[in-house]
Amino acid sequence: MLERTFRPTWCEIDLSAVAHNIGELRSIVGPAVAIYVCLKGDALGSGAEAVALRAEAAGANGLTFGNIDSAIRCRQAGVSLPILLYPSCLPSAAPALELYDLMPTVSTLADVSSWSSKTKSKLRVFLKIDAGGLRAGAFPQQAAQVASAVVASDRLELAGVYGHPMTSYGFDDASYTKRQIDGFLEAITSIERAGLSIPVRMVSSSAIILENPSADLNAIDPGRLVLGMKFPAIAEREREWRPALVGLRSRLVMAKSLADMGEVEPAPFIKLRCDMKIGLIPFGWSDGYPREIPRNATALVRGRRAPLLGPVHSELLRIDLTDVPEAEVGDDVVLLGTSGSETITLSDLSEQWGMNELDIYSTIGKTLPRIYLS
Ligand SMILES: *Cc1c(COP(=O)(O)O)cnc(C)c1O
Repeated sequence: MLERTFRPTWCEIDLSAVAHNIGELRSIVGPAVAIYVCLKGDALGSGAEAVALRAEAAGANGLTFGNIDSAIRCRQAGVSLPILLYPSCLPSAAPALELYDLMPTVSTLADVSSWSSKTKSKLRVFLKIDAGGLRAGAFPQQAAQVASAVVASDRLELAGVYGHPMTSYGFDDASYTKRQIDGFLEAITSIERAGLSIPVRMVSSSAIILENPSADLNAIDPGRLVLGMKFPAIAEREREWRPALVGLRSRLVMAKSLADMGEVEPAPFIKLRCDMKIGLIPFGWSDGYPREIPRNATALVRGRRAPLLGPVHSELLRIDLTDVPEAEVGDDVVLLGTSGSETITLSDLSEQWGMNELDIYSTIGKTLPRIYLS
């Protein structure tokens, strides 16, 4: 990583939105329910370290990660909250989990025995339940047996049990969500019936929190809501969610007037305008901009709307400056955000690009430098 970057294209992440959204979540679930913030995918491209530190300051009680390396970077950045790792690392990583105080997921008796054999001191673990997603997790009827094996191991301690009902993979089926939650509750009951206590019981991601209050249990693990992505909500759980991704900006690296073209024959792909002026920004499809230029693609320059012109290049994009004739090299070009009295919002951008907000977050946040606003 460069200390600072010189390429004049960046995105802006508003960490006060993260704090605000955690405050809204707290107002929904109350003080007794733990909030574990899910930071998968480098906090969806928003940068896990910065989001984790802000979430900790805003009252989150724990963090969850898919990527162990990302979790370790957060520890190194000074995060001290409990951290749960989803099942995406191997027991051979146990020394790193002990060193950085990370909790792995177990699903099977074989997991329990391999984690206990690789652990030197004592590791707190979470048991995952699979109530239909067919990813990791013990099926409800196996839960008590696996939980008992954790408790019987002198190297492991049961920190909690969690599940992740499938809600948004091309189907929207409230009664299936409910059946998956019921499967999870059945697992919890059978573990407790075996005489074991479960400190953390967690089954609510963003979509579930807003529509299934009875699934709050004693902990929730929202990811997308913390970044301000919207979901349907029952009336008493409607809140003002603020997007964390608030800016996508670049600067003109070229501005030229076609009046100076002389005898040059222009490429046929651009519809020439009278007194046309064209600019360039260092941003293109390698950064996640759609390869096919969207219809009505615009950006803001000096508080005015200027059309973007195809074809889109790997790292360059043309902009029609004819209506902003005073624009010059170095001027700000706003693809998301405000310029003067004009604003392009995230939902405008999502409509322009024909891409949902989730995809915008995860593409541009990973390729562009991020500037954090507080
Ligand atoms: C991704 C994930 C979450 C968070 O989901 P959101 O929809 O982003 O709130 C919660 N729990 C588990 C197990 C996950 O994999």
